[in-house]
Amino acid sequence: MIRFEHVTKRYADRAGGGTGGADGPPAVDDLTFDVAEGELVTLVGPSGCGKTTTMKMVNRLVEPTSGRILLGGEDVAAVDPVRLRRTIGYVIQQVGLFPHRTVLDNTATVPALLGWKKARARERAAELLDLVGLDPGRYGRRYPEQLSGGQRQRVGVARALAADPPVLLMDEPFGAVDPVVRERLQTEFLNLQATVRKTVLLVTHDLAEAVRLGDRIAVYGQGRIEQFDTPATVLAAPANPYVADFVGADRALRRLAVTPLTEADLDPVAGPAPVGDPAPAPGPVPAPVLLPPRKGSGPLRENPAPGAPRLPLGVSLKDALAALLQDDAGLIAVHAPGDPARILGTLTTAGVHRALRRRTAGESGTGPVGPR
Ligand code: ADP
Ligand code: MG
Repeated sequence: MIRFEHVTKRYADRAGGGTGGADGPPAVDDLTFDVAEGELVTLVGPSGCGKTTTMKMVNRLVEPTSGRILLGGEDVAAVDPVRLRRTIGYVIQQVGLFPHRTVLDNTATVPALLGWKKARARERAAELLDLVGLDPGRYGRRYPEQLSGGQRQRVGVARALAADPPVLLMDEPFGAVDPVVRERLQTEFLNLQATVRKTVLLVTHDLAEAVRLGDRIAVYGQGRIEQFDTPATVLAAPANPYVADFVGADRALRRLAVTPLTEADLDPVAGPAPVGDPAPAPGPVPAPVLLPPRKGSGPLRENPAPGAPRLPLGVSLKDALAALLQDDAGLIAVHAPGDPARILGTLTTAGVHRALRRRTAGESGTGPVGPR
């Protein structure tokens, strides 16, 4: 459905006082690959390796220096760029919704450009909002600023799908939302893709996302694809040391998801323990009185605010970190499993760091992760 044939892109070398021609180093270098109809291919790699450039050459926001790109057998260079873009869904991280248009009108943008009757375009938009999990009756008349980041991202996806394009380009589509919402959006998108079966190119710098979403993944080095295969193969049999390194770095992070939070990771709750105090003894700990936090300094600073997020012992470090990142104070209260009233201690990002370091150092810390 999408075919890259020896595609190279060089931008003008501004730093070198370039002539405005394509005289810079290759941003992508001799790319050749195919994406089958209905396939979801993720492009993954570090920042600056050429992922976005690759994607933008498909809808001609960027023109290749050499080589060609075929879409359904047709060279995109021969298609009028405006017409081309109306037949390709495009989702970007910043979403790019029109702030002064309602959610419904934003979603109907492309059908309207294609000259659909207004009623039909709106009907289609409502359908799509429903499909991405936004009740059109409730959200359709809102403006983008009246939505959460995750909801805006859903509108972006709905808008890209509104004219039912065969091809969808997604550039870090879930990059701007927090980890918990991102995972939910990924799950929803997988369900959606199972229904709509678009041919999708999705750019991400996050290997876990690439692995989770992709039928196949393209691992980028500088401007080149180092490996293009199924996620299982890339993880199990990296093609070269670069891919092994890229996959390996992420492996440590992915351990967060399978490492449970234990009592040893917590700080005591009633003020900081004196320096050198041993970790609290395991076993039942009497429920401490939660005092309102005192702004500024003092020992009580370590107490969670009454409204602080609470998690049970045994959740994954990943869930704990996600909760921490959402809390302004960066402190969560950890309670006994099944007993939210019994606070065992508090967790800070420093605690997560310590836990990971300790377990990376060899202690076997992975195991079943408890329910939330
Ligand atoms: P990625 O999406 O993987 O982060 P990009 O495709 O955006 O990477 O960029 C690849 C390389 O091309 C980078 O070195 C970047 O600086 C360069 N580049 C991207 N866009 C332009 C541009 N418009 N002009 C000049 N250089 C660019
Ligand atoms: Mg990019």
